[in-house]
Amino acid sequence: MDTVESVLTNLRKNRIPGKCFKTSRELFGYLGSFLFPGCTAGAGDSVTLEQLGVYDYLRSGNCVFLDKYTEGITKNEKRALYLANFSADFFFSGINALSQTGKIFNLDGNGSRAAPIIYGPKKVFLLCGTNKIVPDDEAAVLRVRNTAAPMDARRLGRKTPCAKTGRCMDCAGPERICNYMTVIQGQFDENRIEVLIVEQDLGY
Ligand code: SF4
Repeated sequence: MDTVESVLTNLRKNRIPGKCFKTSRELFGYLGSFLFPGCTAGAGDSVTLEQLGVYDYLRSGNCVFLDKYTEGITKNEKRALYLANFSADFFFSGINALSQTGKIFNLDGNGSRAAPIIYGPKKVFLLCGTNKIVPDDEAAVLRVRNTAAPMDARRLGRKTPCAKTGRCMDCAGPERICNYMTVIQGQFDENRIEVLIVEQDLGY
């Protein structure tokens, strides 16, 4: 069994369905079978989503996209969007590490993407390149701390030790980018969270 197949098998054991796509075109074909005119969709901050063109896809479709990147958006408006995500029809996010044991690892600074992944939106799509797949849970935590966090901290201009050194120094400062580290290892409604793997290197 190859790596992607074993991840999908173990995700299914944890009641999390998953699919693999060769291209973003295939991915959008699949998503198009879910989104309906007038539906609401929110999305977390994600380089993977940006690289795949998911934000533009949501902006150009028939859905109401709760777009946190809207130019000139105020802090209060952004907070309102974050809260609206909880009652959206769909929510999209990336993944920071996907363990072959079928568990999903994410870090979050303020919880605005981790929280709606776990509860609220009716359907959640978690998008992920094959570069996020790691052999086990320990490797997943290491990936989050020593790859995802430092690169994300640099992207966002955070003054964290990992942004400087490229490795987690277990800081506890106000700029900490990993205040929340979530592990999703199952769900009650097996149709809610769905993992969509694209056979590319995406995000970090
Ligand atoms: S604890 Fe600090 S140094 Fe470690 S990953 Fe988080 S922000 Fe970076």
